[in-house]
Amino acid sequence: MEELLSHQIRMASFDWLKSLLPQFPDFVFPSKVLANDFFFKKERIVLTGQQGIWKPKQMQFPISIKSRSESIYDDEFISDNRIKYRYMGDNPNHWVNVGLRNCMNNKIPLIYMHEVSKGKYLVQWPVFVMFDDIKNLSFIVEAQTKSYILPENELMIGEPSEVERRYATRQMIQRLHQSTFRELVLIAYKEHCAICALRHRPLLDAAHIIGDGEILGRAIVTNGLSLCKIHHAAFDSNIIGITPDYHVHVREDILNEIDGPMLKFGIQQMHGNKLILPTNISSRPSKELLDIRYNEFKNAV
Ligand SMILES: [Zn+2]
Repeated sequence: MEELLSHQIRMASFDWLKSLLPQFPDFVFPSKVLANDFFFKKERIVLTGQQGIWKPKQMQFPISIKSRSESIYDDEFISDNRIKYRYMGDNPNHWVNVGLRNCMNNKIPLIYMHEVSKGKYLVQWPVFVMFDDIKNLSFIVEAQTKSYILPENELMIGEPSEVERRYATRQMIQRLHQSTFRELVLIAYKEHCAICALRHRPLLDAAHIIGDGEILGRAIVTNGLSLCKIHHAAFDSNIIGITPDYHVHVREDILNEIDGPMLKFGIQQMHGNKLILPTNISSRPSKELLDIRYNEFKNAV
């Protein structure tokens, strides 16, 4: 069992994260906030630091585990519902690894932080360490839903079923991919809409060229476009198409329509414009994918 104070801090940190969701609705928090802004009984508790496995000095066991964006497509994700978290170093008995093993043995929930861009973390809680894979020097981590935790009391109201655990973890991993994709695309386009140059982050989306339900619809920058909400919806519904040579095309029937200023200035006047592209050539949209998508646009009625 975890000491009471340590447990109380842990539960308070979960509530604090939840209270910040209106401010960070996609679960992406700045690392400064995580490191500096949480207080328990007027004392600052640092929730993340230099080490990947982090234990605040006021607590008995680690509170968070952190990983970096390079690893998003490698073996960190064993399947779509499990995360492999590597030991610190290669000594299974390093005190930091022992701390995490204690969390596993005592079913203590943790905060998982994954760096999606510099200084920004996708945060998920609670996660539990499920297995200790000494042979591969790593732990297996899974997400769970908050309903399994009672403050001040026994941690578990009963074991969640395998299905529930898988569901929670899969949601976490999907969110992780989406947030990473959004960050990488918005950064590549310097936070502009590629069609109209609008520069207000809350009004921008990372649009998929080929939808994420399809085989080629991977969440990579070259399958992405930074678009404002209206142009994203117009692109998805084939009102606007993008040619493989990066020009904006408005569907003919829409071009001939007479409506208010949004249609006139926001859509019709974009026709024939060149797309605003990332300076970095390797981040530009794939011409092959645009070609596939543009054919779909041309066939749309
Ligand atoms: Zn736009």
